[in-house]
Amino acid sequence: MRIDFTKPTKTILAGRAGYQCSHPDCDMITIGPGDKYDQLSSVGEAAHIYSAAENGPRGQDGLDEEDLKSVNNGIWMCKTHARLIDTNKGDGFSATQLISWKQLHEEAIKRKQGRIHRNIGWASRIRIINSPVFKDDTEINLGKVTLIESSKNGAGKTAICEWLSVLGSEQSPQRWIPSRKSDTRYSINTFMPEKHEVNVSIESDRYKIDIDGVDSPFCGLPFKTFFFNSDIFKVEGKQDMKESEYLCQALDVDIFTLVKLFNRVGLSEYSFIKKVALNEESCDLNDVECTIKGRDFSLVFNGLSGGESNALQFELLIAKIQAYAEYSPLILFIESAETSFDNQMISHYLDFMNSSEVSFQTVVTSLSGSIRKPSIGIAHFILNGEHSNVEVSQV
Ligand SMILES: [Zn+2]
Repeated sequence: MRIDFTKPTKTILAGRAGYQCSHPDCDMITIGPGDKYDQLSSVGEAAHIYSAAENGPRGQDGLDEEDLKSVNNGIWMCKTHARLIDTNKGDGFSATQLISWKQLHEEAIKRKQGRIHRNIGWASRIRIINSPVFKDDTEINLGKVTLIESSKNGAGKTAICEWLSVLGSEQSPQRWIPSRKSDTRYSINTFMPEKHEVNVSIESDRYKIDIDGVDSPFCGLPFKTFFFNSDIFKVEGKQDMKESEYLCQALDVDIFTLVKLFNRVGLSEYSFIKKVALNEESCDLNDVECTIKGRDFSLVFNGLSGGESNALQFELLIAKIQAYAEYSPLILFIESAETSFDNQMISHYLDFMNSSEVSFQTVVTSLSGSIRKPSIGIAHFILNGEHSNVEVSQV
């Protein structure tokens, strides 16, 4: 027995998708004028994430009939992509991947609807053609949140982040030049919403980057990338500075901008911090006051525990990059092994990154099993094997 969507559910799915296919590399409009003046032509389909039939693609994951026919279990696609995701019993397209596509797409539609001039987009895929690390022709389809895990360090997690980061940088992936052992060639697909392919090749000590086949000194697409690791909050002479001065340096902003960022912290339900403010009256170094959620007293910044202080700095960073992400595609890389964050906190913030409150993409790298994953909607990959032959499998 097939469990089909009702007509109202289909209409909601189509509408939420702006009647456009949700595949990250497709921009097909699925509705338009029909043959006769008073007819419509529709090439869209409400596709099932978990299967409509018992032994169908991706299975039913123990969901009941109500869940299977709910809006949550559908994704709007053009006919071609609706077929594609169901080939081979859906093996190439996991449920979390499809949910992630749906989130990215709805995010894009929401932004198009609100402010038409914004640059909307994302990186949809990295294809590693050859490299000293991975098996030739390795593909990773990125989601809104992508989690890349391996059981040991040095399995290529950082390589993927470094390669992707050419999108938002005037720098080359320097660590890979001159090429070690073998050449490195990869391509990144972006969707903004017009499609672009960024091709990078490193042969011996020759570095080449092109966009859609046109040679370029660096990737000039309006993309931004940020790394979150322990380096970014290292500031020389921190102990002799006012707290506000330290935060300005760490975030690379001036005091007026810092106060504006303070005002944006604590607005989200995911925030650990209730309130942060500048105390201009303060005559000593402690001039930043912070209240943690669930407490009714405030502490100066230097009075916070390590974890609390990390949380504040992270939330300030998010407030800063979210200001960019309103107008340009952006990827945040979180290298969890390189931060002083505990895994519980990263897990908590993954739910935040996965929510519709943030409009950027996040790529998180971690050791296998150390992070609790959001229940839905992340693209999750595991790296396995030895250098030059690392395999990427999708979970
Ligand atoms: Zn399509």
